[in-house]
Amino acid sequence: MTKKVVVIGGGIVGCVTSLFLSEKGYEVVLVDQSAMGQETSWAAAGILSPLLPWDYHDDVNSLCFKSTNFYYQLSERLKKDTNIDPEWIESGMLIHDVQEEAHAINWCKKNHVEIQRIEKDRKTCLLLPRVAQIRNPRLLKALKVYLVQNHVAIIEHEKIKPIKDSTHLVCNLQTESGLNLEADQYVITAGAWSSYVLNEVDKPKIKPIRGQLIQYPMIQEKLLHILYSDDFYLVQRQDGIVLGGSTTEDVGFDKGVTEDAKNYLQHKAESLMPDLKKYNIQNQWSGLRPGSEGNVPIIEKHPNYDNVYLNIGHYRYGLTMAPQAAERIVNLITQDG
Ligand SMILES: Cc1cc2nc3c(=O)[nH]c(=O)nc-3n(C[C@H](O)[C@H](O)[C@H](O)COP(=O)(O)OP(=O)(O)OC[C@H]3O[C@@H](n4cnc5c(N)ncnc54)[C@H](O)[C@@H]3O)c2cc1C
Repeated sequence: MTKKVVVIGGGIVGCVTSLFLSEKGYEVVLVDQSAMGQETSWAAAGILSPLLPWDYHDDVNSLCFKSTNFYYQLSERLKKDTNIDPEWIESGMLIHDVQEEAHAINWCKKNHVEIQRIEKDRKTCLLLPRVAQIRNPRLLKALKVYLVQNHVAIIEHEKIKPIKDSTHLVCNLQTESGLNLEADQYVITAGAWSSYVLNEVDKPKIKPIRGQLIQYPMIQEKLLHILYSDDFYLVQRQDGIVLGGSTTEDVGFDKGVTEDAKNYLQHKAESLMPDLKKYNIQNQWSGLRPGSEGNVPIIEKHPNYDNVYLNIGHYRYGLTMAPQAAERIVNLITQDG
């Protein structure tokens, strides 16, 4: 008999999890409290790599690097089947003002990550040529079409209430409008809001961390690579627009944007690429990262419920990690039968 899974949260993590579940033959219902794919996964910059991989936990890198091939293939599939191009580009990332050059190069050698040392304006930069980027708002738009084509039922504008079951099995989940959702298994992929769904009132495991980005209009100059310096990056899309980010702010669920952040990001952007001084900032937005200890996501069965699975807390690299994180959680679900 076909098993039914309800996935809560239609960001990149929920979308890829739903896709893999449907490919394994599950009946999948994906629920979102707003329009799916419009929260943090939409707000991100779309860089498919940790910024300085050698600064991160092995598990973060393992999830990121094992995911890299997936996006190229997915992008090709989405172009063909949905006519939406998510603009996967292997642009590489050029790191300026390298702090620990020898450590970075040794780490890359040890982990089989390609790296090149480049002299630019008499300064040493490091190039990670295999780093790719994707235009995440288009990726999410295409995924929505693709999931429907692959028989995933999408329910939007329904907010799941906190889990309250007193037994080891959750029988159903309710939405604030009174909809009852019954399934064999449930997967929580609610990003920064996951602790609310999990009813973690006293000690939330997942904490929202706001990130703001600025956008320059289509510029004439071509950025050959993603540029990175001192926790700041510039990414150029195929049509020439440039994004600069980002901030990391512990301000709760406030999704506002601030003048201070705009000035800070503009200063960083124009120091890294002085040509940007010719252009006005066109847009500014923010997203709430699902903050977790050390950036390490929680991908496991719920400790108290036998049919609830967690795929949460992907913090700064949820786009990058989503494929491998989804594979891990889907493996756990299929092992449990
Ligand atoms: C400024 C910025 C730049 C970033 N840049 C990058 C980058 O370049 N590369 C990278 O890999 N990562 C980046 N990230 C991080 C990345 O965006 C996140 O890690 C990732 O989007 C998390 O995905 P998610 O699916 O868990 O969350 P989300 O995309 O936020 O999705 C969660 C979904 O759950 C829904 N939801 C919440 N509560 C409920 C409920 N009660 N009922 C129903 N639905 C609910 C929400 O509406 C939302 O759609 C960036 C983040 C920010 C803020």
